Amino acid sequence: MIVACVLLQHYWSGGRVVHQKKPLPPSPRSRIALGLTSAAARGVFELQQCQECSKFQYPPAEMCRHCLGEQLIWCRADGAGKLLSETALHHSQNQFYADRTPWRIGLIQLNIGPTVVAHLAHDAELSPCPVIVDLRLDRSGRGVLVATSQQDTLPMPGNKQHSEMGCDPESRSILVTDGQSDVGQAIVRALAQSGAKNIWVGGGNSASKDTNFMALEKLPGVEIIGLDLTNPNNMQEQAKMLGDRVDIVINTVQACSVANTSSLTETQQASTEIELNYLGLLHLAQEFGPKIKHRSGQGHSVAWVNLLSIFALTNHPSQGTYSASQAAAFSLSQYLRSDFQAYAVKVLNVFFGPIDDIANELIPPPKLAPDRLAKDLVAGLARGVEDVYSGEFAQEIYSRYREDPKILEKELSHE
Ligand SMILES: [Zn+2]
Repeated sequence: MIVACVLLQHYWSGGRVVHQKKPLPPSPRSRIALGLTSAAARGVFELQQCQECSKFQYPPAEMCRHCLGEQLIWCRADGAGKLLSETALHHSQNQFYADRTPWRIGLIQLNIGPTVVAHLAHDAELSPCPVIVDLRLDRSGRGVLVATSQQDTLPMPGNKQHSEMGCDPESRSILVTDGQSDVGQAIVRALAQSGAKNIWVGGGNSASKDTNFMALEKLPGVEIIGLDLTNPNNMQEQAKMLGDRVDIVINTVQACSVANTSSLTETQQASTEIELNYLGLLHLAQEFGPKIKHRSGQGHSVAWVNLLSIFALTNHPSQGTYSASQAAAFSLSQYLRSDFQAYAVKVLNVFFGPIDDIANELIPPPKLAPDRLAKDLVAGLARGVEDVYSGEFAQEIYSRYREDPKILEKELSHE
């Protein structure tokens, strides 16, 4: 097992080049404080709230500072407050901050009670002034508090200190692995609209030439390429040609037996799903992973995006083998995130429910419009979150999953 892990790591790093890791902010955090990171990863502002006296508290602790109650739950909170004082770091022992001085921090009194220390956006007015505090993931993947003036909203593209917490598609070179589906096409259109510099779109080697797919090539910066995730030689060639220029990899390849009307046996369908949804992602990461680590080391903001069914979290019996392949891909995405973290490469998972397309025309609403998914993906990249639950269906399933995975499993087994 250890040998297998070492081999995989070796393969991951290309087995050829050792990439320089970037200076990162300090990352150790106590288990209780990881609640901040969990909220930041989902793009929401949450603080601990005492269930006995209802007070919010910060920093996170095992018990309530007001009544010593032990029932503390992470709840959505209002980030509005007043900047009491501010200062700037001009020196730091940490190389990440030393490279970015002066770095502003402020003391903020939140309207809901706690006083917090937060990173301060450069264009926040001098104290005292009203500010909004939000949670973002820093370059180490750690949840940190960021304050900005009430007129601004995060992410702030013009603000280097905060924009590097995300990976806005504007002016970036992006690989979208499959542009043949409605979702793939919606994502390419959204990226072009966001001002992406280059968008390489896989699907050019397919025999079917859908008019919507062919229309993508007329968009600015778009180039159709032949990309086959099941063919390691093809992946190696494409990584050699494009890898050094790609800032963002978006894997849109999906195989689903539900949409498959052929006479394949269940085992053959499951094999296709695993080959594309799991092994395809693995091949992609083996070839493009080392390239984007290297690109990140050269100072570019780099990200990796996976599209995953919400049934990656819990199996839906009507899509049993497909759900299993998505669970495998989800697990691999967590490994990728861990492996990429030291190189400051962000991994974003976009979870979706039934898509509003021809394959799902018989499925009752709510269904997710491809354009909505694309919009959520672009916003998630810009903000730098790790998990996006796109649309009402995926959000509902995620909420029920968090509440009790076993109850959800039982509910789905009777649907
Ligand atoms: Zn309390």
